[in-house]
Amino acid sequence: MATMIIEGDRTKAASGKTYEVHNPATGDVVDEVPAGGPADVDKAAQAAAKAFATWSKLPSNQRREILHKAAQHMLSKVEEIAVLLTREQGKTLLESRLEARRFGENIGWFADLADKIHGQYVRLPDLTTYGLVVRRPIGVCGAIVPWNFPLTLAANKVAPAIAAGNTVVLKPASTTPLATLACIEALIEGGLPEGVVNVVLGQATGEAIVAHPLIRKIALTGSTPTGKKVMAKASETLKKVTLELGGSDPCIVLDDADLEGAARAISVGRFFNCGQQCLSTKRLFVQEGAYDGLMEKLVARASKLKPGNGLDKDSRMGPMHTETQRAEVEAQVKDAIDRGAKVVYGGGRPTGSEYDRGWFIEPTILENVPDGARMWTEEVFGPALPVRKIKDLDEGLRLANDTQFGLGSSIWTANMAAAHRAVQELEAGYTWVNSIVIAHDELPFGGTKQSGFGKEHGVEAFLQYTEEKSVVYGGI
Ligand code: NAD
Repeated sequence: MATMIIEGDRTKAASGKTYEVHNPATGDVVDEVPAGGPADVDKAAQAAAKAFATWSKLPSNQRREILHKAAQHMLSKVEEIAVLLTREQGKTLLESRLEARRFGENIGWFADLADKIHGQYVRLPDLTTYGLVVRRPIGVCGAIVPWNFPLTLAANKVAPAIAAGNTVVLKPASTTPLATLACIEALIEGGLPEGVVNVVLGQATGEAIVAHPLIRKIALTGSTPTGKKVMAKASETLKKVTLELGGSDPCIVLDDADLEGAARAISVGRFFNCGQQCLSTKRLFVQEGAYDGLMEKLVARASKLKPGNGLDKDSRMGPMHTETQRAEVEAQVKDAIDRGAKVVYGGGRPTGSEYDRGWFIEPTILENVPDGARMWTEEVFGPALPVRKIKDLDEGLRLANDTQFGLGSSIWTANMAAAHRAVQELEAGYTWVNSIVIAHDELPFGGTKQSGFGKEHGVEAFLQYTEEKSVVYGGI
């Protein structure tokens, strides 16, 4: 049975309660884990506060070295961690390997910043004094993670937090705790001091983290409704919050676009991780002259995505993560079809005995999806793509921005003036021009509108795990 990681303890829940983690491809039990609650969060927060006293005072070059060594050790275990991730999450082994590798690389990327961020010297009018602006770590940080990219999204929070000298109470999604535990255990084996990252498990620990008085900042990745609840609760203790929430990313393809490149990017953007991605291609707007050519290429790509158990070498798309999640996407597709949409590819579940026990679904492409359909107005968190023909860029931009969300967006065109206009006008935290939807460590990533605020990745993320303090030195 897996345990929580709280300082030196590998511990069960204070209540003694447990729950099972299931494999989405087979329904089999992968492991039994503690169902923690407020008492466990309290223990973890106390442990993190104790560790903060020493971790935050370490010379920053030592922190950098410890984190690099720990990350290297974790990276030596990518293969076993990837298998665990596929078994609990469902994604293909290839996707799990990429994700596990990203975890270690992310720790390394932020480790390099640990001793590179400086404060400021400020001249003051009275020359017998001078000012400094110093940056300090915040304290204990809470990290709350969803199930779609359990490792990437944990690393996005843990890596900048600990590189800046903070300590962490980390809560994975209830259904995907195991690979995360393995990553943190590997960091500790590789030299990360106990107590710097503590892992609590179970649904009830999320609210307890947000409420805990010792925790000074919350970073949540999750749905927009969860983000609203967390922000309201965090206001009671005036915690800082970073909210990475839902999205419904538009992609505009103009007549002069490289259609092969666009089809590849859209296919990855919509079907990678069985469509369970935040940054993604969730609404596609294609200019009339490019429409038929692009659809043909998209269908050809979708037809190669064989669904299957992520551990099978032949599988190109794992199952959806839960039965509820699949039912939600199926209901959104049905709503579109009931309103008159045409299924261009997929639209159902794959058939055959290997699909009987898991939450499999076909990659799906729909056209003629009417205005008001759920696929346009809600986030579709699965491999189903609504496509709409547009006359010109004006119409594309109007439709693209007609959403409460503002996470990612993309445009494919050979016309740099059109691309420039899209970059200026698309309401999103990220715009890709003629480029595949991949977030880069070097660029700050975060949403606008109801997709949240605050940044992960980049120097900006590191800075958000620090506080500025002004100092006046007198008596010179
Ligand atoms: P979710 O909001 O249900 O849960 C996310 C995490 O929050 C889980 O660990 C959950 O236990 C916890 N949680 C739920 N209610 C809470 C509360 N009241 N207080 C504290 N914690 C609470 O999301 P999900 O279904 O796990 O993930 C899918 C959602 O995440 C989608 O909307 C997706 O777009 C979004 N997402 C966003 C990004 C991004 O970077 N913007 C990335 C990935 C996923």
